[in-house]
Amino acid sequence: MFDSLSDRLGGIFDRLKGRGALNEDDVRAAMREVRIALLEADVALPVVRGFIDKVTDKAIGQEVLKSVTPGQQVIKIVNDALVEMLGSDVSEIDLATTPPAIIMMVGLQGSGKTTTTAKIAKMLTEKERKKVMMASLDVNRPAAQEQLATLGEQTSVATLPIIAGQQPVEIAKRAIQAAKLQAFDVLLLDTAGRLHVDQQLMDEMRAVSAEAQPKETLLVVDSLTGQDAVNVAQNFSEQVDLTGVVLTRMDGDARGGAALSMRAVTGRPIKFVGTGEKMDALELFHPDRVANRILGMGDVVSLVERAAETVKAEDAEKLAERMSKGQFDMNDLRTQLQQMTKMGGLGVLAGMMPGMKKAKAAMEASGMDDKVLVHMDAIIGSMTIEERAKPALLNAKRKRRVAMGSGTTVQDVNKLIKMHKEMAGAMKKIRKMGGLKGLAAMFGG
Ligand code: GDP
Repeated sequence: MFDSLSDRLGGIFDRLKGRGALNEDDVRAAMREVRIALLEADVALPVVRGFIDKVTDKAIGQEVLKSVTPGQQVIKIVNDALVEMLGSDVSEIDLATTPPAIIMMVGLQGSGKTTTTAKIAKMLTEKERKKVMMASLDVNRPAAQEQLATLGEQTSVATLPIIAGQQPVEIAKRAIQAAKLQAFDVLLLDTAGRLHVDQQLMDEMRAVSAEAQPKETLLVVDSLTGQDAVNVAQNFSEQVDLTGVVLTRMDGDARGGAALSMRAVTGRPIKFVGTGEKMDALELFHPDRVANRILGMGDVVSLVERAAETVKAEDAEKLAERMSKGQFDMNDLRTQLQQMTKMGGLGVLAGMMPGMKKAKAAMEASGMDDKVLVHMDAIIGSMTIEERAKPALLNAKRKRRVAMGSGTTVQDVNKLIKMHKEMAGAMKKIRKMGGLKGLAAMFGG
């Protein structure tokens, strides 16, 4: 769904070459493209500017981890900054108050406010076992109150009986009274929307808020809102004390840019996302997932995280030095295998790296899986120090001993010896490219 954005970023980062610290020119070149990509993802312009400034400062001069490319490292930095800006954690709805906890829903007409009201009511009823009531305060749109009543029937959630001719503040008062009398835990107030922000709407919303003193005031925004998201967010947050945002239509082809804009302008967490017309199409907002969605780079990000956790720079350096001298004995092979296991095994690595897709298919075809990694480790463990340094010593008799010691067969031992030979032969390639990229090349990726 977000292919063009992901492709664009992929393209930029391929251009970043060289290792060591990220230099200013490279970072600025990459950020120019990130800027365009974010604008294309419909992040509002002022928000894009702030974001780029922050990330540029952070990225310049950062050391590149030994086992990833500078491009992958930049993606990680951009991703982390996105997650941070989107809010680091899942933010749940706050009902901690004397019941009924009042949730006021605000937003423009057509944003999905009424639908979202019913979705939240259903979720609180079914998942939190709360006794929930809904009331529509929308006296402008014909049949708005009936729409909520219908949704209430569909979801088995109580709605406040409709009394024709009542004004929003009166309805709110009546709803609160009814909720108290009938011991409801939660009362959801669905306020009126307008096609555009106007003063009458804002006055009405403020009056209802003053009357109801809601625990939560959630702004519902269509994720397709785009550049206008900033205006909508600013207008609403100036008039009432928002506590959170709900982004609807995240199931559509919106790129999620509105999430970043809303968060930046309101300073409030995004609590839910709507992902369809059905009543259970409501999800908690996970900043990391949305950042991945905006960037389309989730796999690379987790690869860099794992590399940082597991590959000690010193080990990699030592290995690289030995390789550059053409030395690659069984101990080196063992180190490589152990690193691969730590990073999640062959399949995970293969799935993450574009170049390793082919290699994965080849490995699967030859029956090679993560168990094989464990066997190989055991085989090398059964060799003597001399044999590991000089595999040529392994004659038939020694092979039998190693197979016995590792609980494998002579065939397995032969396979490992063959693999070692091939890898040692491919070391020239690795020297040229370094680290994991070399590993991919080694497997024919
Ligand atoms: P309101 O005017 O803000 O109360 O908007 P409604 O709740 O009446 O929603 C307008 C339309 O958007 C309805 O057809 C809903 O089914 C649809 N809608 C609301 N939320 C979502 C969503 O998350 N995804 C999709 N695909 N449609 C939604």
